[in-house]
Amino acid sequence: MTEKLQSFEPATGALLWGGLQGDVDAEVERATSVSALWAAQPVIKRMETLRRFANAVRAKDEALADLIARETGKPLWDARLEVSSVIGRVDMHIAAYSERTGQKRMDGAMNSRQSVRHKPHGVLAVIGPYNFPVDVPAGQILPALVAGNSVVFKPSEKTPATGALLVELLHEAGVPRDAVRLLIGGPDIGKALARHEGINGVLFTGSARTGIAINRALAAYPEKIVALEMGGNNPLVLWDTPDLAAAAAIIAQSAYGTSGQRCTAARRLIVREGLANDIVAELRKLVARLIVDHPHAEPAPFMGPVIDNQTADGLSESFMALMSMGGRPLVHLRRTEEKRPFLSPALIDVTAIEDRPDIELFGPILQMIRVESFDAAIQEANATRYGLSAALVGGSPEHYEQFWQQVRAGIINWNGPTFGIGGSAPFGGIGVSGNHRPAGGHAADFCAYPVTSSEADQPRAGIGIGLAPIDTSGMGD
Ligand code: NAD
Repeated sequence: MTEKLQSFEPATGALLWGGLQGDVDAEVERATSVSALWAAQPVIKRMETLRRFANAVRAKDEALADLIARETGKPLWDARLEVSSVIGRVDMHIAAYSERTGQKRMDGAMNSRQSVRHKPHGVLAVIGPYNFPVDVPAGQILPALVAGNSVVFKPSEKTPATGALLVELLHEAGVPRDAVRLLIGGPDIGKALARHEGINGVLFTGSARTGIAINRALAAYPEKIVALEMGGNNPLVLWDTPDLAAAAAIIAQSAYGTSGQRCTAARRLIVREGLANDIVAELRKLVARLIVDHPHAEPAPFMGPVIDNQTADGLSESFMALMSMGGRPLVHLRRTEEKRPFLSPALIDVTAIEDRPDIELFGPILQMIRVESFDAAIQEANATRYGLSAALVGGSPEHYEQFWQQVRAGIINWNGPTFGIGGSAPFGGIGVSGNHRPAGGHAADFCAYPVTSSEADQPRAGIGIGLAPIDTSGMGD
């Protein structure tokens, strides 16, 4: 029997969406049926179709932002930023396709030509997370489509409504209904899709645990493309700075923006011992003013709830676990509404914990570690298997140079939040944060493969060396 899937508004618990789980075989089959036709369209036509998608999103921008806010719980202003990022992506991915995977032709000898052109992989599975339910999958679906792939998209089971609207807008723009398929379902459906023999690759964004499971499942299929965008245990190092208030603002944005539910959020604040008390005082003042409220509340909140009660419970347990290991709470994690997953921003000093767990706490919890030297700060920053983002706040140009050289991450910032910079810049990490296939403009690289050709209108050849002379002895007298 086909299972039902429902999504609920985190802020109110109201039922938002209900539908049936999809059929993996049927969706892969439909995507396969149109794959060759879609790939054979002139690229310019696919580009025009995607530009119409940008217009379709523009025409429904408020409805889309409202739905994102309701389904994820993020503030409406934050959801609006997500929508404008999606619109901005279209031109960026079109330009990136031309720049990174365009055609190159050169004249060769004797009227021949040499060319490098790209072909799509075929049918790609896009498996998405809940925290950016439109922007993140669009960052893989759009480059996949422009390159000529067809796509089976499985949104997170926590955000099926936004996933469904994204696909609806693509169809409305003229992407053939079979060139992008919506597959509703949870982890089991994701698992079946990733392993389906009819797909030619998986573009995944989510936790390291799931990404590693997908990587393992596809280890025996080197012919399938696998792009993994995973989480982080991202460090923010605070060093000497004349403006602690600005530093506190950068720290709060990095750790608590989108309720800490960003892959690039700062999880660890590594601070020079002598600065620790002052920055804690500054952070306490600021955090006390951050509004945690419903996504549509007025005045606008800084952050909304986390995605669901189970996640909020898990984060509360993790905070308690850090305390029981020797962590000292500096700003307590509070549940601001008893029955809903609203969490207040929290700060805990974990310096005394010897074996700090290297896990991604995907919520508004920042762990502080005090250090004596800049070398020790870098050592702490690198004390993780992840490697998504890192930031240095304060310090001199020499400090930043050392930080940039020695810190292991795909995004390294100075005097700004730990977030990526958007646009066409590559977005991805190393370690268990990614498999060296960064998204952003670089997604073009893994959505198509290069084909090298040497071409001539006529066969023209002769063997100039290594031939025995023509045997003329038997020729007629
Ligand atoms: P998740 O790993 O729990 O789920 C992600 C998706 O994978 C969902 O659609 C889920 O149904 C599916 N899935 C689960 N198990 C699967 C399996 N075995 N095989 C195939 N698919 C499976 O992640 P989440 O909780 O939805 O999202 C939050 C995570 O995503 C965080 O770790 C965050 O850091 C990460 N993230 C990373 C980026 C990035 O660009 N690096 C961006 C956003 C979020």
